[in-house]
Amino acid sequence: MEYYAQPISKLIGRLTKLPGVGPKTAQRLAFYIMEAPKQEAEELALAINEVKDKIRYCSVCNNLTENELCNICSNSERNTSTICIVESPKDIIAMEKTGEYKGLYHVLHGSISPMEGIGPEDIKIKELLPRIKDGDVEEVILATDPNVEGEATAMYIARLLNPLGVTTSRIAHGLPVGGDLEYADEVTLSKALEGRKEV
Ligand SMILES: [Zn+2]
Repeated sequence: MEYYAQPISKLIGRLTKLPGVGPKTAQRLAFYIMEAPKQEAEELALAINEVKDKIRYCSVCNNLTENELCNICSNSERNTSTICIVESPKDIIAMEKTGEYKGLYHVLHGSISPMEGIGPEDIKIKELLPRIKDGDVEEVILATDPNVEGEATAMYIARLLNPLGVTTSRIAHGLPVGGDLEYADEVTLSKALEGRKEV
């Protein structure tokens, strides 16, 4: 038998699809939304619509933005001679929180994973080359995740950049292996950045 009225079970079903939300949490959130003032629920729906309508990829680095350029690429104070390569926009947030890095970024939106059929052409690697060839880039920091896919991606890019005459470095180990950059604490990430090695 169905425990909930159909619109409620539909909402619970949608919420259960969110990462980290199990059936119990989904039920709690659904009841919260139902009992909240109508305006509060509408503002939530509106905020969801707004990110879907307004957020796109920065035309230079593929970070998330509502403008042509993200707020890092459009900031004239950033050091344009360094590009830090990350897998996800969430990694930019982690790096920015360290307060140590003042250069630019390049977001791959994934990593090379032969097991999952993801090759170099499926992530944003080719968009990187014009930035190196046309810009004043001196160093590329490979800050992909410290797991098998992240290492493979870093090595692939290092080989690709080798003939272009830029210094290529990999952030130091000390990050939990198999982990996700975005979950590294600020001190660990600062140290990993500081201890990066040329590859
Ligand atoms: Zn950007």
